[in-house]
Amino acid sequence: MNILVINCGSSSLKYQLINMKNEEVRAKGLVERIGIEGSRVKHTTTGKEEVIIEEPMKDHRKALELVLNALVDSNYGAIKSMDDINAVGHRVVHGGERFANSVIIDDEVMKVIEECVELAPLHNPPNIMGIEACKELMPNTPMVAVFDTAFHQTIPAENYIYPLPYEYYEKYGIRKYGFHGTSHKYVSLKAAEMMNKPIDELNIITCHLGNGASVCAVNGGKSIDTSMGFTPLEGLAMGTRTGDIDPAIIPFLMEKEDLSFDEVNKMLNKKSGVLGISGLSSDFRDLEDAANEGNERAELALNIFCNRVKEYIGAYSALMCNVDALVFTAGIGENSISIRERICDGLDCIDIRLDKKLNDVRGKEAIISKDSSSVKVIVIPTNEELMIAKDTKELVEK
Ligand code: AMP
Repeated sequence: MNILVINCGSSSLKYQLINMKNEEVRAKGLVERIGIEGSRVKHTTTGKEEVIIEEPMKDHRKALELVLNALVDSNYGAIKSMDDINAVGHRVVHGGERFANSVIIDDEVMKVIEECVELAPLHNPPNIMGIEACKELMPNTPMVAVFDTAFHQTIPAENYIYPLPYEYYEKYGIRKYGFHGTSHKYVSLKAAEMMNKPIDELNIITCHLGNGASVCAVNGGKSIDTSMGFTPLEGLAMGTRTGDIDPAIIPFLMEKEDLSFDEVNKMLNKKSGVLGISGLSSDFRDLEDAANEGNERAELALNIFCNRVKEYIGAYSALMCNVDALVFTAGIGENSISIRERICDGLDCIDIRLDKKLNDVRGKEAIISKDSSSVKVIVIPTNEELMIAKDTKELVEK
């Protein structure tokens, strides 16, 4: 069975064609600048050279048409015809409170995804465009929606209700939803596999540390708390996002700096985090280089980032009592030896003991804690596409 996984952004479309027999990627690619001058598809079929197709694309439908053409191309394609695509799995950012699992897409599901636009105005509309384009071009192929929020629907009310007047939850659905759910689910399942234990017997803290970053408390395979909230702005300090701050800072700054609603939103989402603190970069490679050369603000940004991760590890250890594993994933978690070391430094008080030699690893599955550490520290490259494909296969086979 071949599954096409689609992840649509406002002007981009990422895709992978996965052969579910061996879970291998047959082809993958990225469409950039949809609806903007200079649009192009970067396509790679496994075992063949990357090709770049430059062609105007006025919308996601045109982009998908070019992707499908690339997949079946006799020179650089991966399959003979579109009939070789058995199902499509779509990443959808927000499923609100309605979806605790992935679902087969039908008219009713589309209606609910549209209702969730209010909660994710930047993310759900391009996801919907991707689904609509697929419906037009492959009307007989089953499609599944996999939501970033679904994994966190097991969080109990005491962890998802904000201490605001309760009526705002009832009126507007203001609550913690959490994000990166597909990644937290994938790495927690993988950790259980690596530890050779059933997931329902394990307490795992998963740290998805990329440009966007979140921590999740996974109790017996279920998310019981996570650091992102109503939006992906809450929680850890991130590349360009504030994470947790005193909410009173916002009206204070709006008044002092005469900021509009849009300007303050941009400041919190795009100009803050480690970029805001360092004044230098949101990329941890740049910050680590600068800190090594003595740049104090880069050093401060890295320390603030790592301390926040530590605080959440502490909080979730208290929530779950016996933690069996601490997992690092995503760009920073998978690749930065020094950030993992800084985060784990001093955590022997909660029996997290990193082995510095084993920690000398990037981008591959590895257990990096000492034998004496009761909490296993594990690096797992995330694979949201494979998780989406697995959910899609399971639903389509049903
Ligand atoms: P992601 O959002 O998961 O793609 O992660 C992207 C981020 O990972 C980049 O902005 C970098 O800050 C970080 N990153 C990637 N490779 C490394 C590395 N070798 N060392 C430190 N940080 C890295």
